[in-house]
Amino acid sequence: MAKRRSVRQTSSRKKSTRGGGSSGWKKSTGLAALLIFFIILLWVFMIYKTFFQPNSGMPGIKNFPFQFMTEDAKEPFEIVADTDDPKRPRAPFIIQEGENKGKIAWEAWVCRNPLCPYRKKFNKPFVFPNVIKYYKDRHEAGKPLQPTPEEMKAMEEKGEMMMFDGIDMSQCPVCKKYKKDAFQTDRYNTDKGLQLLEERRKKLKEAQENK
Ligand SMILES: [Zn+2]
Repeated sequence: MAKRRSVRQTSSRKKSTRGGGSSGWKKSTGLAALLIFFIILLWVFMIYKTFFQPNSGMPGIKNFPFQFMTEDAKEPFEIVADTDDPKRPRAPFIIQEGENKGKIAWEAWVCRNPLCPYRKKFNKPFVFPNVIKYYKDRHEAGKPLQPTPEEMKAMEEKGEMMMFDGIDMSQCPVCKKYKKDAFQTDRYNTDKGLQLLEERRKKLKEAQENK
């Protein structure tokens, strides 16, 4: 008899323990759900703040002086544009009017090589049009600079990539001519452009520190 009672007691104790465990599990599931909900809310807020809310996260630059050059030009010309504007002319484009109509406006780049023969001779860095052979060939063949969606599809099917002449694209033509080692070249900016970039860098740093 005593043995049976003890079994029953054990089993009832087990039952109550199991019951308590079940309600605890429900509680922790509820807490986890709430936590996940807040994490998602925070995440959505961060995405909104970064990408959609103006003047937060990644401030653009109004009236940024982009520098371009035709292939035969000695000096770059300026196009003032908003860096947030998706229609901004940052990539090479075909000039639509004026004396250079029909020519490609290439991004102006600058040679950073301290041993660049041009720098040595004229005591200033060499600024040059960053001619991309792929675009140049297309333009000379009477095609638009960017491949059409059909051409892209055909290239994809053939397993071809868009072919850029990687070395020519960013190597200083003077250094190349005088067989200097390839050295760092950058997009060319005027003093005003550099100042605007510096201000933007500061703003971004401040925004990151205040997060
Ligand atoms: Zn050079």
